[in-house]
Amino acid sequence: MISNFDFKKSLGQNFLIDDNITECIANTIDYEKSNLVIEVGPGSGNLTKKLLKKADFVLLYEIDTRLKKILYRELNEFENYDIIWDDFLYRDVKEDLKKYNYKNVYVVANLPYYITTPIVSKLVMEMIPAKEIVIMIQKEVAERLSAEVGSKEYGQITVLLDYYFDIKKVIDVDRSAFYPTPNVDSAVIKMTRKNKLEELTSFEHFDKLVKDSFQFKRKTIKNNLIKKYDLDVVSKVLEKYGYNLGMRSEKIPYYVFVEISNELLK
Ligand code: SAM
Repeated sequence: MISNFDFKKSLGQNFLIDDNITECIANTIDYEKSNLVIEVGPGSGNLTKKLLKKADFVLLYEIDTRLKKILYRELNEFENYDIIWDDFLYRDVKEDLKKYNYKNVYVVANLPYYITTPIVSKLVMEMIPAKEIVIMIQKEVAERLSAEVGSKEYGQITVLLDYYFDIKKVIDVDRSAFYPTPNVDSAVIKMTRKNKLEELTSFEHFDKLVKDSFQFKRKTIKNNLIKKYDLDVVSKVLEKYGYNLGMRSEKIPYYVFVEISNELLK
């Protein structure tokens, strides 16, 4: 454990101190030949060291330059990495990747909780070409992102992510695995990019339809959509899959929303 470091809560600086968990995260990736792993927020390098032993190359993004001395010291036995001392949220990652010639890109992060949503959105919406994304996030958020259709955690964000990824929870992580100890528990999820996506006429329309469908979680899909959408079209698609307008959106899988969106735009 590092001493004499003034941990910043505002940067989500809770470092992993449980070796079994860092090992488990590093082992979760299915490394294919010629691989580059992006790690967001290496901190003092506990997880980074495990990644460096398995990956061909690791590209690190760390915002806190106070960690320079510690991190270079911790990683001094390795050569297969670069560090970009900057805010990951504002980087053009695709541009950064042009410098490297690796076929398979992965993202790994023990994420600062305060920016979980912006980072996940960036990874998804900017189409950063990662085959797999393995992230440690707050347990409740992990449950939402990896929720099965029909469960109470299944919601708008699950549907949008299900379009692009297969998402599985890997492991629950107790707060005692971190220093300083945070006041929430965590979990690791693995997001595997789908090889083939369903045809989608407009992502913006799909996004809006899904948001509207989940606006009031206790309402039926009919009552959420009644004012803005052609319910005959919605109903036809729902019935094709054995659903109906009287159901709540949490029962409806992402591909049905894809088809409803496409049909509404015809
Ligand atoms: N990976 C280390 C570990 O598992 O022990 C540290 C994880 S700690 C939860 C989050 C790390 O992300 C910290 O080192 C913090 O300084 C860094 N960080 C916070 N915001 C960031 C940002 N916007 N861009 C890059 N790094 C960031």
